Amino acid sequence: MATETDCIFCKIIAGEIPSTKVAEDDSTYVFMDINPATRGHALVIPKRHTQDITTIDPADLAAVTVKAQEIAKRAKEVFAADGVNLLNCCGSAAWQTVFHFHLHVIPRYVDDGLIEPWKPGQGGDADVIAAAGAALRG
Ligand code: 5GP
Ligand code: ZN
Repeated sequence: MATETDCIFCKIIAGEIPSTKVAEDDSTYVFMDINPATRGHALVIPKRHTQDITTIDPADLAAVTVKAQEIAKRAKEVFAADGVNLLNCCGSAAWQTVFHFHLHVIPRYVDDGLIEPWKPGQGGDADVIAAAGAALRG
């Protein structure tokens, strides 16, 4: 399994740094976030070290995503969560602070105090949206 010597999440998987483990299988590891946004905030990571969404092996991404779905369902059952956010940050500009791919599974509760990172407005500039779509289509 690929590991990075300076990566705290690789150290957590290896048991060199303690964590509150929730689940583990051949390719994924699930543990509680040390600084939870809400009650039950968990992190799902691939065991194979990779930096972010642009580098993760598609099979590992599939395994992590399916595991996140399981954890989201569990959160709704055991915490009676009213909803769940899945969050992935890719790059420091997008708030990534640990550079081992992870999916946050954040149970949500009515009036839990979290705020949206943006509020949908009246719609953007149609030409700019069309140009961005064209750029993505290539
Ligand atoms: P990011 O900001 O990269 O999307 O998320 C990194 C997350 O890892 C943060 O929510 C942070 O609280 C969590 N975290 C950082 N270091 C540790 C640690 O040593 N143990 C655990 N359990 N979580 C950590
Ligand atoms: Zn790592």
